Amino acid sequence: MADNSDNNTKISEYISAGGFYQTVVEDGADVIFIVNYQGLILYHNPSVQDTLGHKPNSLVGKNFFDFIHEDKKEELIKTFEEISAAHYTENVEFLFQEYSGQYKYLEFNAINLKQKSGLDGLILDCRDISQRKKAAEELIQAQKAKELFLANMSHEIRTPINGIAGMVNLLQEFGGSKEQEKYLNAIKNSADHLKVIINDILDFAAIESGKLKFEKIGFSPKEQITSVAEPLLLSAREKGLLINCVIDSEVDNIYLGDPVRLNQILVNLINNAIKFSNKGKIQVSAQLNKAIDQTHHIAFAVEDEGIGISEEGIKRIFDSFSQADESITRKYGGTGLGLAICQQLVELQGGKIWAESKVKKGSKFFFTIPYQLGTKDDFRKEFVKIEYTQRELINYNILLVEDNDINRMYATKLLQKWKCEVDIAENGKIATEQASKKVYDLILMDLQMPLMDGFEATKFIRNKLQKPNSDAPIIALTANAIKGDNDRCIEVGMNDYLSKPFTPEKLYGKIVEYYHEDRPAIPEDADVFSSEHLTNLDYLRGVCNGDVDFMQEMINTFITKTPEMLLGMRESVQSSDWSQVGSIAHKLKPSITFMGIDRVKQLVKDIEESGKERKNIEELPGMVESLVTVCEAAIDDLKNKLERGIS
Ligand code: ADP
Repeated sequence: MADNSDNNTKISEYISAGGFYQTVVEDGADVIFIVNYQGLILYHNPSVQDTLGHKPNSLVGKNFFDFIHEDKKEELIKTFEEISAAHYTENVEFLFQEYSGQYKYLEFNAINLKQKSGLDGLILDCRDISQRKKAAEELIQAQKAKELFLANMSHEIRTPINGIAGMVNLLQEFGGSKEQEKYLNAIKNSADHLKVIINDILDFAAIESGKLKFEKIGFSPKEQITSVAEPLLLSAREKGLLINCVIDSEVDNIYLGDPVRLNQILVNLINNAIKFSNKGKIQVSAQLNKAIDQTHHIAFAVEDEGIGISEEGIKRIFDSFSQADESITRKYGGTGLGLAICQQLVELQGGKIWAESKVKKGSKFFFTIPYQLGTKDDFRKEFVKIEYTQRELINYNILLVEDNDINRMYATKLLQKWKCEVDIAENGKIATEQASKKVYDLILMDLQMPLMDGFEATKFIRNKLQKPNSDAPIIALTANAIKGDNDRCIEVGMNDYLSKPFTPEKLYGKIVEYYHEDRPAIPEDADVFSSEHLTNLDYLRGVCNGDVDFMQEMINTFITKTPEMLLGMRESVQSSDWSQVGSIAHKLKPSITFMGIDRVKQLVKDIEESGKERKNIEELPGMVESLVTVCEAAIDDLKNKLERGIS
């Protein structure tokens, strides 16, 4: 090393001659104040002129706090008390008045003179942070604008998706040729796909703005994994893939955590495994990685034998909007957001995620999450069973508030199907007028509407109307998936919310929660009914153009063929051949429509769906028995009708 002794001596001379003081304090860019503990200014350097416009020495003898913005003064006085008791304090922000009268954001580090020199004073070394503050404020504004944009965009996209999905549901009700069914399914799949994309974008935005919250409720990872894998079996089977779940007995416990977010991660990884594989098996596993006191670190893995990822690709896949290579978008589509979201979800829960892969051999995605052990008491069955036999909600007075024509038509048709009485309001203002004139059993309220939105209308109903009109239960129909909107619904006095697009089952499920039993008697369940009037031949008459012979032939075919089908269905239940149960239900569906057995129209559709998608398998035997009972009674009714003669 070079001998620096000469240079060092010169630096020492420079310091003792005051050069250091001159360079740092007098000529430096920082504003320096020396004040006593009460804020009296005893010295400031000339930089106050450049930074704040005050003349040199002009502030000496004045009080520092007299220049502090009123809104911040009290806080700073308190901070001063703390600073006076400490040696050194960093980064204290304050708003100081300039010569022009304007206020500027500065930040100081304070050196207490007490410790070194025994004096009750502070050296405040201040920096101008107005640019930084401005940038931060702009960022907040931009963030707000982005959130607003996303909220509006999600509304704009969800509303038409709701319309498309709803119309497809209605069209499927009417049945149709195989070709038509195929096209309808394609439309439905596309709408579902769009829903996934919009949900991903919204989730990503929520994570970015730090708005994502995690639940801490009791759940069983074993049940979660099985329930996640079940509905995906169908799409896997369509590609000739098998899904195998291996759950170690060591993790077969109740844990405290967020099962919905765990589902989301698993669904994403399993869907990717299906998407990027053309053969072989997909294995989903969970095992104990380590246990520290009451916390179990569970290691989950999703392994496939698909196309694999190159070494280069694997470095990128967890980045947002990134895919392994460009050909992936062309061939498989996707947004490149799924894994970025998974990574955030895992890390925000204190875990890690990573992947191993070999091109053409397959990929393995691992993630670990620490969960606290829970007890049986923490365990709450999250899923409310859907009632399969949808009862009629006779005379149930509903006010439907919705500005979108298609959504209004969809919801009205469903409500009328359940025999509700429906009034319609096209915006919040009309809704308040109607609710003031009539007592509703339930109000279904859209949020974004012209003239008066759903929030304002609810406030009006709750605060301005007389009882009992003001007490009507209100369920929000929300197209916004932005967190906070749901809370706002409850804050303004709504009872509940239902996110659009909704399925008939979801809407029905919500409505029955508010359906009180003190209304006119309705049949309690499928076992208690008379076979009389179980069938309605109006539709068949229309189809046969009033040709009685043709009608009789159709009825006779139903009477002879149906028992065989019902028997086949029961046998398939016994041999657990669920897809066969589904396909028999599919065959039976048109006959049920022809014979007008409206009571089981929905049930047979549910059986078909459950069987084909292996969904809610545990419910299927009971559903099939209900169907058999009703169909047998319907056959009796038809025989009677034939005997009496149809016209
Ligand atoms: P997306 O699937 O929408 O493109 P993801 O973030 O889920 O977005 O995945 C990012 C990329 O990672 C995919 O585009 C693909 O290149 C790669 N990838 C993810 N999972 C697999 C897998 N199981 N096998 C092969 N490649 C995968």
